[in-house]
Amino acid sequence: MKENSLEKIEKIVSLCKRRGFIFPGSEIYGGLANSFDYGPLGVELKNNIKNLWWERFVHQRDDMVGIDAALIMNPKVWEASGHLKEFSDPLVECEKCKRRFRADHIDPDYEKTKKFNKSIKCPDCQGKLSEPRQFNLMLKTFLGVTEDSASTVYFRPETAQAMFVDFKNVLDTTRRKIPFGIAQIGKAFRNEVTPGNFIFRTREFEQMEIEYFIKAEDWEKVFETWQKEMWAWTTDELGIEKKNLHDCECLPENRAHYSKRTIDIEYDYPFGRSELYGLAYRTDFDLKNHFKEPPYEDVESGEKMYPHVVEPTFGVDRSVLAVLCDAYAEDGERVVLKLKPKLAPYKVAVFPLLKNKPELVEKAKEVFHDLKKNFVVAFDDRGNIGKRYYSQDEIGTPFCITIDFDTLKNDDVTVRDRDTMKQERIKIKDLPAFLDGKIK
Ligand SMILES: [Zn+2]
Repeated sequence: MKENSLEKIEKIVSLCKRRGFIFPGSEIYGGLANSFDYGPLGVELKNNIKNLWWERFVHQRDDMVGIDAALIMNPKVWEASGHLKEFSDPLVECEKCKRRFRADHIDPDYEKTKKFNKSIKCPDCQGKLSEPRQFNLMLKTFLGVTEDSASTVYFRPETAQAMFVDFKNVLDTTRRKIPFGIAQIGKAFRNEVTPGNFIFRTREFEQMEIEYFIKAEDWEKVFETWQKEMWAWTTDELGIEKKNLHDCECLPENRAHYSKRTIDIEYDYPFGRSELYGLAYRTDFDLKNHFKEPPYEDVESGEKMYPHVVEPTFGVDRSVLAVLCDAYAEDGERVVLKLKPKLAPYKVAVFPLLKNKPELVEKAKEVFHDLKKNFVVAFDDRGNIGKRYYSQDEIGTPFCITIDFDTLKNDDVTVRDRDTMKQERIKIKDLPAFLDGKIK
C-alpha cells in the first residue's frame, strides 16, 4: 500500500467528520465497532445517489417495478434460500484474547488449500489460533416477548430474497411479462469480521438491488447488457473515472452458493482495489426454492415455468465511498470535492458580501429563500468571501452567489463556478434557469 494513498483515506475520513458527511456511530459512548452515521451533508449525498438510481433503473424503464420489503422476514425464507446453512465465513479464534479473524484474511493461501497455516499467530497479541470454524453471517434477534428459540428471527443478509418471495404478488398485481425486473433499495445486515476500511464493509449496510427475470436461454445476453448498464451508471451518473474501475470475473470457488457466474466491478480505493458492485447469474435457484409450483405462465405458449434471474447489486455505502474518493482533489491550499452537480449536497451557496450591511444581508436572504423553492441551498456570512468559497469547495457545492452593492442597483449577482473558479454576472430573475441548465 502506498503511503500517500493511506494519507488520502485519512484526509477523506477527517473531512467527512469535520464537515458532517459521516460520523463514527455512537461516538459519545466510545463508538460501536464499524458503525457509522451519515450526517447532514452525508444524508443528502446518499439520498441523491439513491434517487438517481431509482430514477434511472425504475422510473425511466418500461420493464421495472419497485418494492420495499420488511427487514425481518419469516425464518423459513432463509432456510429455503440456503442462507442458514451456506452463508458463513471460516473464522479462527485467538486462545488468549478471544478475538476472531477471517482465516482467508490472515492466511493468503487458505482460499486455495482450505488448510490453515498453523504457524500463523494472532495479529493482535501473538496468541495461538484455533482451527478455522464456519460461522454463520446472519444477524440473529428475537421477536415477541420471550427469548425462546421459537421466536428466533434474522435480519436480512441481502435485499434479494424479498423480490423472490413477493414474485407472485408482484406478477398478479402488475401483469408483467418476462423479461422484467423488481428493484429495491434497503438495509441488509451481516455479522462478519470487517477489516475496518471506513464505510467499505460494515455490519449494517444499504443495497440497491435488481432481480431481473428472464428465459433461461437468454441469460448470457442479459448478463452482458447489465454489465454495460452498471458501467454506464458508475461513469455517467456517479462521475467515477473509467481508469479507476475494473471488471473481475469471480472464480467458481469464490462465488456465492446460488451463482453460476459473477462479475465484480472493482474500484481503486486508496487502500487498494476492491469490490464496488456485483453482477450475478442466480439461475432459477431462488424461485425453485420458494415455489413448489412454477410461479410464471408464458402468455403465448401457456407453458408454466421458473424464470431465471440476473442480479445487478449496487452497494449504497460503497457508492458514497467511491464517489468521495474519486471527487477528492487538492489544489494547493484548496481542497475540492469535484462532485457531479446532481450529487452535491448543496447545489448553490448564497453570500452577502458584508455581514454588517443590513441591506446586503436582507437582499441575500431574499435570493436564498427564493432559490430554496427549487434547490438545496446553503447560506454563509462568516469571514471573507475567499474563505467562504474554500469552505463550499470542500463540500462540493458547484456554485456560489455573492450579493454586493451593485446587486442593489442592477438586480444582478456574481456567480462563481467551483471547478473553473470563474465568476460571471447573472440577473437574479435568470438564476433558476441558469442553475437548472448547469445542474441537469
Ligand atoms: Zn490474540
